[in-house]
Amino acid sequence: MKKRSYQKKIVPRIEDLASKFNVAKIGDVAFEKKLCKPPLFKLKYPIYTVFAKSPNPNAYNIFLSAGVHGDEPGGLYSLLEFLEREVEKYLPDFNFTAFPCLNPSGFEQDKRENFDKVDINRNMESITSVQENNLLIQFLTDNPQRYLFSIDMHEDPTDKPVGGCDISENPKKFYLYESSPNKESRRGHKLLRKLEKLNIPICKRKEIYREKNEDGLIWTPKVHNPDYAAEKSVQTYMQKYTTHSFTPETPTCWTLEDCIAAHLKMLSIALEEFLPN
Ligand SMILES: [Zn+2]
Repeated sequence: MKKRSYQKKIVPRIEDLASKFNVAKIGDVAFEKKLCKPPLFKLKYPIYTVFAKSPNPNAYNIFLSAGVHGDEPGGLYSLLEFLEREVEKYLPDFNFTAFPCLNPSGFEQDKRENFDKVDINRNMESITSVQENNLLIQFLTDNPQRYLFSIDMHEDPTDKPVGGCDISENPKKFYLYESSPNKESRRGHKLLRKLEKLNIPICKRKEIYREKNEDGLIWTPKVHNPDYAAEKSVQTYMQKYTTHSFTPETPTCWTLEDCIAAHLKMLSIALEEFLPN
């Protein structure tokens, strides 16, 4: 059942960005809604990318995405807020390629999965039948470039069990997944310590959903859950294009304001930290 409108709430905000940046529709995803009897309803959603270009020809490329899980709208609102209000101050040093909403049908239904009940963040493989992922993979293939880092903004539900664990195990503080070529090259700990200094509460329990949590950081090449394996999630897939990919998680029990503040601080700290001297 539709809980909110992508067309009314999100599309106008993305299209308004075209006054400042290059906004492009990379394609549509379409679903058939089968009722007991005809007619058959067709649902169609455009997927957009926003490119904020630096005037500096030597600027570094950053990849940002959100809205992969439809019941985690905080990431999507954070990325829109960044593009609307913050991005310009970073343009002297960076180009931004952003996908504000990769799962519009999930957003409308307030569901983790897309309309076909597929978790698109567990099917990011090179050959996939998932339309949203095909569009993203095609874009990345057609526009090959190296990114300094990538961030896929998520929320972590606090009102439902996750990964077969008891609901009491759901973190109620910020934490971060990171993929990097090896353990030594991880940057997440430094980002987390800086976030903590800015009063963002960090989840420090030893395990999160049975994965080893090191003071707020889950390093994904070293995980038990096979669903986090290489190339299955946006974060792990992005390892083809960057050495560092992150998935920040804020708990859904936080206010939207706190969620947005945490994601924006994480991004600004990462930009500062990764900018070579
Ligand atoms: Zn998520």
